[in-house]
This record gives sequence, structure tokens and C-alpha cells, in this order.
Amino acid sequence: MNPVFADLPTTIFEVMSRLARETNAVNLGQGFPDDPGPEDVRRKAAEAVISGWNQYPPMMGLPELRAAIAAHYRKWQGLDLDADAETMVTSGATEALAGALMAILEPGDEVVLFQPMYDAYLPLVRRAGGVPRFVTLQPPDWRITEEALAAAFTPKTRAVLFNNPLNPAGVCHTRDELDLIARFCVKHDAIAICDEVWEHVVFDGREHLSMMALPGMRERTVKIGSAGKIFSMTGWKVGLVAAAPKLMRVLSKAHQFLTFTTPPNLQAAVAYALAKEDAYFHGLRAGLERSRDRFSNGLAQLGFRVLPSQGTYFVNIDIAPLGERDDAAFCQRLVREQGVAAIPVSAFYAQDAVNTVVRFCFAKKDATLDAALERLAAIAPAARPREV
Ligand code: PMP
Ligand code: GLN
Repeated sequence: MNPVFADLPTTIFEVMSRLARETNAVNLGQGFPDDPGPEDVRRKAAEAVISGWNQYPPMMGLPELRAAIAAHYRKWQGLDLDADAETMVTSGATEALAGALMAILEPGDEVVLFQPMYDAYLPLVRRAGGVPRFVTLQPPDWRITEEALAAAFTPKTRAVLFNNPLNPAGVCHTRDELDLIARFCVKHDAIAICDEVWEHVVFDGREHLSMMALPGMRERTVKIGSAGKIFSMTGWKVGLVAAAPKLMRVLSKAHQFLTFTTPPNLQAAVAYALAKEDAYFHGLRAGLERSRDRFSNGLAQLGFRVLPSQGTYFVNIDIAPLGERDDAAFCQRLVREQGVAAIPVSAFYAQDAVNTVVRFCFAKKDATLDAALERLAAIAPAARPREV
């Protein structure tokens, strides 16, 4: 068996969701909203199942979806994409990530990864023969510095795998940080594989800036999005890929033997949805921002140290002030004793882990968030007797 997978534990998202079911806990672990998603988009998909085409769609994606991807990113991110030569539809962002790594890496190529990193990255890099080089980010700001990049990039660097906005940290990296990475990519002739699945989930008036829009990056960026995140239906595995033609030709070769296609009915609905009026996208952000505020303020009132959340479905707390040093053990107790499932952020590190940060998903109904806060009150600093 291949040790990359043979030695791998089950992903923390599955573990915590299963525990949440078993213990009847409020599940703020795995990131998914508890509303059903926009009804018009679901109707489009349903109509497409009943009356549409249910055979193989074209390998690169339905033409109307590829056109919608180009139009959407032109409008929202100022990118000029040729739908035919520069877009592709995959079965989720996960397939796009796996395919990009398979297409780009040769055994021994180095890949710069930023910890905390989404848990799929490292096994996929390793299985593609890549050698990870870590940049480790620290709370509460999780900032990327020139010194850290200088230590991670080497003459063997082939690619950077960069997630912005960053899950699990909930930060949006700044223009300066993107410029810095771009500068290193150009200098080392490296490709940036950019996981931008949270591009629409940004708060406080922020606008997402794609790495692809930076000077020198247009030809060396693989931009990856996910309809599941843009339309609050995480089970819809529809990945949106953009890359210059030279890169896309190779990405498509990996895609053709990974999944070849993605269900056509979901593609048709996503094509419709990407063209939705601005109000939908602003409403998505406003709704999630409200939930973020409700939950973050609730946590702060209970006395928890809350780290700022600028984007994604997630907010983190620092558990060090509670005297806790082991986020994984803390999360096990939290789900079993308090009935709240969360994610230990150490699961997103391969080495030098931060062990005192815990992630909560706030993309939930008010009642769900309030129920979680009620349960968390029992272990809150505000509820603890003061030391004398
Ligand atoms: N990358 C990141 C950073 C994510 O948070 C997620 C899902 N939450 C994915 C990739 C996977 O996206 P998809 O479900 O479209 O495969
Ligand atoms: N990306 C989601 C999260 O961060 C989970 C995805 C999954 O369960 N594979 O919670």
C-alpha cells in the first residue's frame, strides 16, 4: 500500500462530524451552512435532472458554465479569461487541487505550503511526488513575511500552494503579502496554485483580490474556486478552474483521467447561479457577517479570547487563557462533555503546530449558534470562579 494514504488518519472533519452525530452535539466543526441554499439554484438543478442532459457533458465543462465562469470573474475580480482556452470545470476544488499537483509536479519538486493548511494539501503534494517546504504562520495575525518566504523558496521550488482567504485562520491576506509571494514566484519561476474557494466569503467591505491579477502572475497561476462555497451548498462538488492556456492544457490532461466530467445538471445550475444579480452575493456576505458577529460577540461576552475573522465560515478562539495546551484533547472533551463540536487547528499543521487554537463554523442559524453559546457558557472564563 502507498504509505502516504496507508498511514493517514481519517480527516478531522469526518471524525468530528461523526462524533457530533454520536453525541447529539451542536456541530460547529466541519464547515457547512445549515440552510438549504438558494431555492432558485436548486430548482435549476432539479429541472436539469428531469428535463436536461444526463449523459457525459464535455470534458472541460458545459460551454455555458465556462462562459459564466469567465464573465463572473471579469465582473467580480477584473480578470480577462478566455472561456474556451482558460477555464475548466472539475468535481469540486479538491479534484482541481489534486489534478493541478499531478499535472505540475515531478518527483522531487519542492512545493511551498503555508501552515495552517487545509488538510488535503500535504497528502496530495506527497502523492504527486512533491517535497513540502513549510511557511508557518502564527496567530493572531497569521501574517506572511519576506524572511519566511526566503527560507522556504529554493532553486528546487516548482510551486506554491496558497489559500486565500485562509481556512482555518479566517484571514484575508493583504495586497502586500500577495505581492511578496508573486515576487518570489517570478524570481524562482514557480507556479502559484491558488485555492480561492472562499473568494466570496469576505467581510467588512473587503473585495477578493486574485493572485492571478498581480503583475507577472497571469501566466503562472492556477486559480481554483468552488461553487459549493459561493452558493452555500458544500455537497455540490463543482470546481471552477482558471489558468493560462499553456498551463490549462496540462491541467486538462490530469482532469481527463481523474473524473473526466462533473454532473451536467449541477453545472447547468451553477452557470445560472454565477450570473445572479449582485444582491445575491452581497446578501451572502451580509448574512454570514451577521452570523459571525452574533457568534463572535457571544464568545467574547463569555470571556473567550476571540481571534478576528475576516472571511470564510470560521472564527477561532485562543484556549491558552483557559489553561489549555492541547486543542485536540480540548475538542474531544468539548464534544463529549459540553455537546459542541469544533475543529482543533493543530490538525492543519504537519510540524511546529499551534496547539491552542480552536475553530468554530458560524455559518448556522441563530438558534444553532445560540445553543452552542449556551453550552459553551459552562466552560467559559466568565463562568469560572476567580482565583483567590
Ligand atoms: N479548499 C479549502 C480551503 C476548503 O476550505 C475546501 C472545502 N471546505 C476545499 C478546498 C474543498 O472544496 P470542494 O468541496 O469544492 O472540493
Ligand atoms: N472544508 C471544510 C472545512 O474546512 C470541510 C471539507 C471536508 O469535510 N472535506 O470544514
